[in-house]
Amino acid sequence: MNPLKLPFIFLTSLLLGLSAHAEEYPEVKPTQVGEGLYMLSAKGGNLGLFISKDTTFLIDDQFAAGTEAILGKIKELGGTHPNFLINTHFHGDHTGGNEAMGADGTLIYSHHNVRKRLTVENLIEAFNFRMPPMGKLGLPTITFADNMTFYIDDEVVDVFHPASAHTDGDAVIHFKKANAIHAGDIFFNGFYPFIDPRHGGSLKGMIDAVDTILDRANADTKIIPGHGPLANRNDLQEYRNMLATAYERLMTLKQEGKTLKQIQAANPLDDLSARWGNAMFTSERWISIIFSTL
Ligand SMILES: [Zn+2]
Repeated sequence: MNPLKLPFIFLTSLLLGLSAHAEEYPEVKPTQVGEGLYMLSAKGGNLGLFISKDTTFLIDDQFAAGTEAILGKIKELGGTHPNFLINTHFHGDHTGGNEAMGADGTLIYSHHNVRKRLTVENLIEAFNFRMPPMGKLGLPTITFADNMTFYIDDEVVDVFHPASAHTDGDAVIHFKKANAIHAGDIFFNGFYPFIDPRHGGSLKGMIDAVDTILDRANADTKIIPGHGPLANRNDLQEYRNMLATAYERLMTLKQEGKTLKQIQAANPLDDLSARWGNAMFTSERWISIIFSTL
């Protein structure tokens, strides 16, 4: 292994929390997004939390080790044990708390393919992370194909599924009254995203999914990314431009018949590296992950 890659792998495990070692769970930090609406961050994917008069609605749940801390923070913010939980996709840094939530009566929702994946063991190749099958109580009880809507007090929560983006089971959650969107792992704010080719993800699908979110957003929309800080439409637009630039350049090289090694050697994303390649993947490593999806 190239020793230069080590810091990135280390950062990756910090960001996604895919470390095999038991550590103390970091503090769960809330960022207010709207009235009763929060982004919660600790380890792994950002959570969305909506607390209304009589409903507590949660988006994703990070890791089992964090459930107690997450539930504590929800209570502190005025919520109850979540009535509803929706998984943005199946990855373990977004679904690890499912079992504990489900065991205490939370109704779990997801796209059809999330439930399908959670019933078996999955290998997330890029991180060599093996997810055992989910216990029965953690499996989504209600699944959907294209879209569905929650009506919670005065809020209308639109959920829709972009095809083949980060995975083949992504859900994006749009709080229409609050003008806020939880993008799941369609959006890594500030760095090259992980795309999961083994489980139906593709770079082209990511770009299309981002376009759908951009269409729904305006200058005031708050966007919760799967990873990274709270964002606005402009941040998402810049991320979209990066994805599209990468797609065009890599497709051109691929159509010229270049191999992965030749493309990496040509360093076609050199000018993007400083801004997008410092937190999780270098350009070289990112290309190796997305190449098979082109
Ligand atoms: Zn993910």
